[in-house]
Amino acid sequence: MTTTAGNRPVSNPTARTHEVTNQTPPLVGHDVADDPVLLEGVRREGAEWYLDDLHRVGRRTGSEEVQRWAEEANRHEPELRTHDRYGNRVDEVDFHPSYHSLMNVAISEGLAGAPWADERPGAHVARAAGFMVWSSAEAGHGCPVSMTYAAVPALRNSPELAAEYEPLLTSRVYDPGLRAPGGKRGILAGMGMTEKQGGTDVRTNTTSAVEAADGSWRLRGHKWFTSAPMNDLFLVLAQAPGGLSCFLVPRVLPDGSRNTFRIQRLKDKLGNRSNASSEPEFDDTVAWLVGDEGKGVRTIIDMVTMTRLDCILGSASGTRAALAQAAHHARHRSVFGAELIDQPLMRNVLADLALESEAATTLALRVAGATDRAQRGDAGERAFLRLATAVGKYWVCKRQPSAVAEALECLGGNGYDEASGMPRLYREAPLNGIWEGSGNVNALDVLRALGREPESLEAFRAEVEAAAGADARLDAAWREVRGELARPEDAELRARRLVERLALVLQGSLLVRHAPAPVADAFCASRLAGDRGLAFGTLPAGTDLAGVLERLPAGL
Ligand SMILES: Cc1cc2nc3c(=O)[nH]c(=O)nc-3n(C[C@H](O)[C@H](O)[C@H](O)COP(=O)(O)OP(=O)(O)OC[C@H]3O[C@@H](n4cnc5c(N)ncnc54)[C@H](O)[C@@H]3O)c2cc1C
Repeated sequence: MTTTAGNRPVSNPTARTHEVTNQTPPLVGHDVADDPVLLEGVRREGAEWYLDDLHRVGRRTGSEEVQRWAEEANRHEPELRTHDRYGNRVDEVDFHPSYHSLMNVAISEGLAGAPWADERPGAHVARAAGFMVWSSAEAGHGCPVSMTYAAVPALRNSPELAAEYEPLLTSRVYDPGLRAPGGKRGILAGMGMTEKQGGTDVRTNTTSAVEAADGSWRLRGHKWFTSAPMNDLFLVLAQAPGGLSCFLVPRVLPDGSRNTFRIQRLKDKLGNRSNASSEPEFDDTVAWLVGDEGKGVRTIIDMVTMTRLDCILGSASGTRAALAQAAHHARHRSVFGAELIDQPLMRNVLADLALESEAATTLALRVAGATDRAQRGDAGERAFLRLATAVGKYWVCKRQPSAVAEALECLGGNGYDEASGMPRLYREAPLNGIWEGSGNVNALDVLRALGREPESLEAFRAEVEAAAGADARLDAAWREVRGELARPEDAELRARRLVERLALVLQGSLLVRHAPAPVADAFCASRLAGDRGLAFGTLPAGTDLAGVLERLPAGL
């Protein structure tokens, strides 16, 4: 406000210079699990008994305290201490207390190894849903949680090692610190496959393994990426005389002495900053063989299969978390006299993101359900899982970065500001597409499954065709995919397109059967047929945007 002194405007000293209006309140104090897509999926996949616990995890996830933990665990990054004051190697990593708080909840809520000790049908679905909800607050600490979950089936290749360590890996007690596993109430596991010269092509691993007189082994070599180096045990690939083999490497030996695990440095990463990823070197490092000598890849693939599931869950979770922020902002921000949520073009963007998120979440939970049933001996589900995990890992992880970038843009400049939390979601987004088999590797894995395990395609076909006749666009898309599958020429060159189409028909089939009509219709219209642009926000005219947006988590 100004007054004039003669012709000269001057400031009114009583005017307020810093009135805050039209800013979105923080999305806090809500139940993240209060989400129809998630809850319906959990029921459908057989874990209805978990819903009260899931809501508890959801309320915790949405709390102000946990949001502060997440922010602090990323701002105060883990620090490597290689030596003590006397020059002895210690190779320890210090984490901020908030990281430990996050880990404590994750482990005590059973999001690591617990389902392997839980007889209830649906235990893996329950864990998957809890993991999706909880890791939406902070994804970095999900890495050790996920690897601990995944280590159990690989370890079972050596029953005597499994008998010793499984009760600790499945424990709900977070007991950090380097001590002999036998003296701890719960332990965590990691994996060391990637070396400098290759991560995908582990056959090039040069870390060597020789057998000692007592039947244990000694490793010598380096790893280029080994995350969560303060975990208690690692499954490590090394070259034994009989070929590439899988070994268990504890950080502390049963007698309480430190095993040699020299952490050369920590990675300076794009995102995932609360999690430490290290370069360790092994020198006369004590190890035990897991599975058969020379069958290292076959053994550790049991772990990789489970971490791939978690990549799907993590990407679905990160996509949904970004969508929630975008929708929340659009509800509270007005431009040109109307809330963003009521502007037609913004509705198109949000509905498109909601559609992507619903498809990702539904597929993720379907894969988790198949995991659960396969563990309990269902051969059809095991066959389905073989293809669906690779297809889902490729597509859901591939879509996350562009969906998160679009959601960030919904917040305008505020989305680019660290305080919004969106940059953290954005930096995290490409990671699930890289580790546990990058995009091309998963696409090629689909070809491998199609070629070597025809029963996996049969199970996939049955799943897609369970919706046969329900939507002509889905039927037509599936016919096209089957035509593609029958063409052997240039298979590698075409692999990405094929896997993309497989993912879309699978998502289409799931949504046609399980989602409300507006969602299924919008998905088929925009992903399987019709005239659609490449960016989000290009749902065709006639789409029931309100029907799609009804599927947003409660309160958004
Ligand atoms: C934050 C982070 C944490 C990690 N933590 C761990 C860990 O704890 N333990 C661990 O063992 N590893 C870990 N990794 C490593 C990760 O698993 C590897 O980076 C990944 O498997 C890819 O291997 P690479 O980096 O050697 O790339 P490369 O194998 O060199 O691949 C490079 C590119 O080539 C593509 N490609 C590969 N083969 C083919 C082909 N035949 N045709 C076409 N394209 C191909 C890949 O898709 C990729 O895009 C971590 C990585 C990151 C980023």
